[in-house]
Formats: sequence, C-alpha cells, structure tokens
Amino acid sequence: MKITFPDKNVREFPEGTTSMEIAKSISEGLARNVLAAKVNGEVRDLNRPITSDSNLELLTWDSAEGKSTMWHSSAHLMAEALESFYPGIKFWVGPPVDNGFYYDVDLGGQAISSEDFKKIEDKMLELARQNNPYVRKEMSKAEAVKYFTEKNDEYKLDLLNNLEDGSITFYTQGNFTDLCRGPHIPSTGTIKAVKLTTLAGAYWKGDEKNKQLTRIYGITFPKQKELDEYLHMLEEAKKRDHRKLGKELEIFMFDDEVGPGLPLWLPNGGVIIEQLENLAKRTEQEAGYFRVRTPHLAKESMYITTGHLPYYAESMFPPMEMDGEKYYLKPMNCPHHHKIFGNMNPSYRDLPIRLAEYGTCYRYEQSGELFGLMRVRCLQMNDAHIYCTEDQFASEFRAVNEMYLKYFKIFGIEKYVMRFSTHSKEKLGKKYVDNVDLWLKTEDMVRRVLIESNIPYIEVADEAAFYGPKIDVQVWSAIGREFTLATNQVDFAVPARFGLTYRDSDNEMKTPICIHRAPLGTHERFIGFLIEHYAGNFPLWLSPKQVSILPISDKFNDFAKSVSQLLNNYDIRALVDERGEKIGRKIRDAEVKKVPFMLVVGEKEQAENKVSVRKHGEGDLGAMSPEEFATMVKNEINKQLHK
Ligand SMILES: [Zn+2]
Ligand SMILES: [Zn+2]
Repeated sequence: MKITFPDKNVREFPEGTTSMEIAKSISEGLARNVLAAKVNGEVRDLNRPITSDSNLELLTWDSAEGKSTMWHSSAHLMAEALESFYPGIKFWVGPPVDNGFYYDVDLGGQAISSEDFKKIEDKMLELARQNNPYVRKEMSKAEAVKYFTEKNDEYKLDLLNNLEDGSITFYTQGNFTDLCRGPHIPSTGTIKAVKLTTLAGAYWKGDEKNKQLTRIYGITFPKQKELDEYLHMLEEAKKRDHRKLGKELEIFMFDDEVGPGLPLWLPNGGVIIEQLENLAKRTEQEAGYFRVRTPHLAKESMYITTGHLPYYAESMFPPMEMDGEKYYLKPMNCPHHHKIFGNMNPSYRDLPIRLAEYGTCYRYEQSGELFGLMRVRCLQMNDAHIYCTEDQFASEFRAVNEMYLKYFKIFGIEKYVMRFSTHSKEKLGKKYVDNVDLWLKTEDMVRRVLIESNIPYIEVADEAAFYGPKIDVQVWSAIGREFTLATNQVDFAVPARFGLTYRDSDNEMKTPICIHRAPLGTHERFIGFLIEHYAGNFPLWLSPKQVSILPISDKFNDFAKSVSQLLNNYDIRALVDERGEKIGRKIRDAEVKKVPFMLVVGEKEQAENKVSVRKHGEGDLGAMSPEEFATMVKNEINKQLHK
C-alpha cells in the first residue's frame, strides 16, 4: 500500500503495517516521541494496522492533536488512580481540554479536596512508570451492557444507550477499563509529569435538575521541565492579568449601569487606542487603503441579503423597531463596506480597492462567556476589505501577510502561527460554497504565499468559513501564552450574493474576490493581550504617559511646566507632578505607574536649564537640556516604530 506523508512524500509498506511500525522505519527517535496517528484525517491509535493506500501524519507533542491524545489518555490514568482511593467511584466523561483534561466523577458521597491532589498525582506517576499499554477492544453492545450492569454503573449505561452496536470499544490500561472510542497513546510511560489543577461541581449532562458530579481538572507533560515552565507561566500570567493591570494602570473599566461586556476606556486607554489607530492608519495608507466610516446599525433586509439572518441571529443584539422597520446593531463591518464598493461602480483599472475602517461591532455573548477585554459585547475592529481580481489575489494576500509580519516586529511578537483552514470535499454544497475549482485554486494560492513568505503555518481541513478559506493568526505573549488575535479570510461567495461587480477589460461584468483582514484584531482583545505581553510596561511610543516631570519642591513647578510645554510641542506626552509630596514618593509613584521617563528638576537643573533623566527599569541617565532629551525620545520612538 502507498502511504503519503504531509510533505507529499510517498512510500510503500506491506498492507496491515501499523503507524508505529512506520514511525520506527523512519527513526527510533520519532518512534519514541510519536503519540498518535492521523490516517486520512482521522486520529487513531498507533498500533492499529493500516490496510489500504492512506495519507498519514504522525502526531507528536508538538501538535495539538498529539497533546489532546495524551491528555485524554491522562484522564484514564487519573481515573485508575482515583479508583484506588475511592472505591465505588463512578465515571461520566473525561475529555481533553485546551490545557489538559478533566473527568466528571460521582464519588458516591466520599469527600475530595485539593489537599488530596498530591497523593493522586503520586499514584498517577507510579502507574505511569509501569508503562502499561492502552489496549483497545471492540465489544458487542450486549456484552458492554452486561459489563456495566454488573458494575451497577448507570452513567456508562446511559452513554451506551446512544451508541450503536458495532461501534463500541473499550480501552484498558493496568487495572482500569473504560468505555471509550479513543484514540489513546500507546502506553502510560510517556506521561512523565502530572499536576491536578482544579476541582469544580458539574451537573450531570450540564442540566441543573440532575445530580451534581465532581469535575477534576489536571494537566500532564512528557517532561518535568515542561510542567515547571507551565506552572511558572501561570504564575506570571496571574501577575500580568489584564483585568488587574488594566485597573491599576487606569486603562479601562466596566460599569453595571452601562452593562456587562461593554468596556469604558479611561484616558490612558484612550491614548493607547489612538496610538494603535495612528499606526494602523499610517501603515494602511502606505499600502494603498482608503479609509471609510460607516454607521453602527443597518436594516434587517441587509442582514437577510448577507445571510446573517436567521443563521447568525443568536450572536446579534436583538433588533430595534423604528418607523415600521427593524434595525440591527452591526455584528461585522463587511456588508457596509460591500455597499460602498458597490457604489463605486469600478472597472478593472480601479482594482484592487481596499476599504479600511476601525469599525465598532456589537455581538451578543452570553454573560457567562464574558471575560475582561477578551470577550466583550462591543468591539472596535482593525477591519478592511480588499476587492480584487483573481489575478491580483496572490499579491494582495502576500501584502496582507507582510503587514502582519511588520506588526509582529513592532510589538515584539516572536512566536506566531497561521492556522490555515480549508474546505472538505464531502461537505461542498452543505457547509461550503459548492465550487470545487475555486476552492482548490484559492487554497493553492494561499498555501503558496504562506510557503514563499516563510510563515509558519498549520493546515486544518474542514474548518474554513462557508465562503472561503480562513486563516486564524495565533500569537504567543512574552510569557508563552497563546492568543488568537486576528483572522484573515478569503471570500469568493458573498460578493456574488451582494451583486458586486467590476467591468473587466473585455467589457464583461465580473465578480471580485474579497479578502477580509484585521491584523490588529479588535482594540479590546489586542490591548488585553498587550497588557499581558508587556506586563503593563508599554513601549515608549505606546505609553499613555511618556514622561513624568518631578519638581523637587513647588518652587520649581513653573520651570517644570515650561519643560512640559516644550515636550508637548515635540508631541511628547509629558505631565508635571505638582503634588506637595517628597521627591522620593513622586519617583516611586511614577515607577508604579510604569512611566518610561522621569525628569527630576530642582535648583541646579533650573539654573543650568537642564533636566535629570531617569529611565524606568534602567535608572539614571544624567542631566541634559530639555531639547536634547526631546530629541532622544523622538529618536527612540522612531526606532520602535520602524523595526
Ligand atoms: Zn479514552
Ligand atoms: Zn469582513
């Protein structure tokens, strides 16, 4: 049989070879590290034989699916450990989650607290060291029902109810057997570090009329070092929590009467927003974008044309009735921009047309889902739509990617991945626009640009948008936490629904392709990310206050104000601390507020027309004239913005 690897390399193997044997034939190192196999898009156990020509991806810890296979297997390991401490314990479901896994259990009246975590972790490690294989066994429904009836396990019997005969599998490792469709890692020995993290109550099947089960969360790693780093990252993330720092640094607030999920930006937040918008405007102007402005609402009929209604109605604010019409707050800016493009009546010579706007959108998120600036109901988006011909698509798409890379440099984002979602052939006409040629052609163009621009990316089948391939941009903050900040979508369907056309060189009316892009995401999520990324120490260009001028006593307030005036003329954000506090106190306060520069002025400075400069985090830079200082600041800002 022919096995095709992700790099399109093809090798022949005898029918019935397992993925593990294939891994071994590549290298012993790979065989040690591989956790699961993706065979024709399905994640499976490594020791299951492959019986026909297949695409094969060997999943290691570096892949999300490798991680979730290990974490789900860890849930079984935790269950085995729990059984040894809590006789009669019953298990509901134990899935992997973003960071680790959980198991919902019925302890049958026995008590558990986080003080028990240590002994459970130790037991898990002891069982892991036994390196027991995870053994898969197919079972008939009757056998399975008999097994759990004897165990008196109403939970697994309930799960079995919804399973069809012929599709039922059990997995056993050591002394623990569970009803599970898998997949699992080959054996427990891969699990080298264990941490149980949280206990929570969880109603059976999420229904509060049902019994409350205990949900135990944990996470495991293939190396102790990785667990140590993870715990350190969590500690740092707590210190850098954007909700905590956002309050301390007076960046944003929420108010009950304004409403949940609707942030109010304080003056410091206002400056940050303005700086980000200035950066975006300059960058987009250089890249040939036009700026537009559109209202925050539109009539129902437009959202019927776009297809948002009725399918997206749950994510929109309820309508307002006015003059016998229904109006909706806009959940996205695209339709408004499409209207502007339509009005331009362009010919092929006018394309590409790039329309940009920091547009404010409103989305209904359930109150339980709201989280600081990360999940809000009102968002200001770094939005733009690029309308182009098929011939122009590749270069436009490349330019968008270059813009992302430029921003990453400016913000010091070193780790990023583009998650490239493609269609699925089987779902054309259902989940996806039914035009296979256009899908393949566009996906191929996107893939080529990603490869040529040397951008790290992963390709995921069957996660595209309805109307075209999608790219989610994942970035990591300075402490290694992952954020999805921005998406970038190709749209070859909606322009047609909207009747958008341009007159081509042959005088025919044609439909353009549209690229939706938002490299800086929304102000809300991006600033939330930046607060953690910088730990509140914003780079000079972005700092709400750049310079704090600290007179030693009120005698020097006038001189301080003249310095501040001069700096303001250079467009530098400077403020005088005129309080009657001691200089030591003023310095400490400016440090706490993370102001990049402090200028101390007293007798000597005033006499010589100089300022004594202290840099946040670096200390004394000595005395210089206010003009020299201003030039230094301007140079530094310039450097930060032109990396
Ligand atoms: Zn399982
Ligand atoms: Zn859009």
